[in-house]
Amino acid sequence: MTNNEKQKLYRERNPEKVRARKIVFSNLRGGHVKRLPCKECGNEKSEAAHSDYSKPLKVTWLCKEHHTIYDFPNSQTAIGKKASKRLHAKRWRESHREEIRIYNREWKRRNRLKLKVAGEN
Ligand SMILES: [Zn+2]
Repeated sequence: MTNNEKQKLYRERNPEKVRARKIVFSNLRGGHVKRLPCKECGNEKSEAAHSDYSKPLKVTWLCKEHHTIYDFPNSQTAIGKKASKRLHAKRWRESHREEIRIYNREWKRRNRLKLKVAGEN
């Protein structure tokens, strides 16, 4: 299936979602709606989350991760689990920047050594 076909199928399966999104976009363009940072984490890259597609302008601005969790609050679903895992990983990376930097440097150094040894053989 091509991407276009996938998109078409998605639109056919989720007409109310597509409609709500269209209304949000046209209102954004017209300046009637303002995009806000993610309500949960302040990420500037936010998406409009709908709790009710029949009220297209009643939106909560959320980043991709928080939007997925919002749409799939039951983390027992595969996508919910994946989303919380991703978010967790992201938070972990953000709070362990220094360790990751040291680890990466060490890893590069070791790999260089290995390459050197391999080259000598
Ligand atoms: Zn967020």
